[in-house]
Amino acid sequence: MNLIMLGAPGAGKGTQAAVLNQRLGIPTISTGNILRAAIKDGTPTGLKAKEYMDNGQLVPDAVIIGIIRERLQAEDCQNGYILDGVPRTIGQAEALEEAGIRFDAVIDLEVADEAIMERMSGRRVCESCGASYHIVAIPPKKEGVCDVCGSALVQRADDTPETVRSRLTVYHEQTEPLKAFYSQRGLLRTVPDQGSMEATTAAILEVLGQKK
Ligand code: AMP
Repeated sequence: MNLIMLGAPGAGKGTQAAVLNQRLGIPTISTGNILRAAIKDGTPTGLKAKEYMDNGQLVPDAVIIGIIRERLQAEDCQNGYILDGVPRTIGQAEALEEAGIRFDAVIDLEVADEAIMERMSGRRVCESCGASYHIVAIPPKKEGVCDVCGSALVQRADDTPETVRSRLTVYHEQTEPLKAFYSQRGLLRTVPDQGSMEATTAAILEVLGQKK
């Protein structure tokens, strides 16, 4: 199954993708995690992406399309994958289509901007594997330590309130038009905010026609 997680920054795409990944046995591909790893490693792609990311802007389509086309050719993607945070523009969606990549469903997580602003202050991510937590809603078993790999949890540099505001504006202007794009293709599955992680997972499984 090939899936796309669509939604504003902080809507829960990464968190829900991690659950689906366990459930469906297909990998999650997060361009945000790939870019953060590239920045940490100081690669040319990382150097190109850093300034855009720090300012809450999108990294140019050409960079993203190159990353994603290469990643989807890997062996672990042959039985399906969950795209988290990509495509984020119509240009990226068209490039995927032109590459012959087809999707089974686009899960659109709808969360109001004000709820996002509240959530983002409590978000913590693993600096090593990228797993996502929330200090109140999804705490790690041990404070400040990733359940998955044992590395330190940090606050993302782009999770400050000012940058989150910019990212929400960018989302509404450049990413939200993807709802109409995928709706026209009969793929959009809208999941309204359910208030908790478990209820959202249940709602996603329902729109995918999977048993809970
Ligand atoms: P994320 O971890 O998905 O919230 O992404 C963090 C940042 O990485 C975004 O604010 C963008 O600057 C950049 N980024 C990640 N994915 C994409 C994408 N598909 N297109 C453009 N920029 C992206």
